[in-house]
Amino acid sequence: MEDCIFCKIIKGEIPSKKVYEDEDVLAFHDINPAAPIHILVIPKKHISKLTDLKEEDEALIGKIYTTINKIAEQEGFKENGYRVIANCGKDSGQEVMHIHFHILGGKVLGDKIVG
Ligand code: AMP
Ligand code: ZN
Repeated sequence: MEDCIFCKIIKGEIPSKKVYEDEDVLAFHDINPAAPIHILVIPKKHISKLTDLKEEDEALIGKIYTTINKIAEQEGFKENGYRVIANCGKDSGQEVMHIHFHILGGKVLGDKIVG
């Protein structure tokens, strides 16, 4: 997708601090971290928002979660755990219209999910 910043990151047109990459998934550090560990995991397929997911995407979304575990192992925070957040649409405050999963960790995050 032409004007999508995350598609540009996938194509290497915008730099990122990559954490993990395979044929389907890319993970990189969030530019404005909200926790000591703040990694974004995205599918290489452009899907604007979670409400656009189709049945054909089920395996891809499953793969994202197993990839998150691989990243947790690779980066050394599997033992302590993490939180995954995916914003969808206006009420969530989704800013980048390419689905992404925030991995947050590196400290005790507290019991509030919403601000
Ligand atoms: P959301 O509010 O769920 O759409 O989150 C978008 C996230 O993308 C925010 O946490 C931003 O800090 C992050 N972000 C935006 N541009 C970049 C970029 N070029 N590289 C890394 N992270 C980015
Ligand atoms: Zn995109």
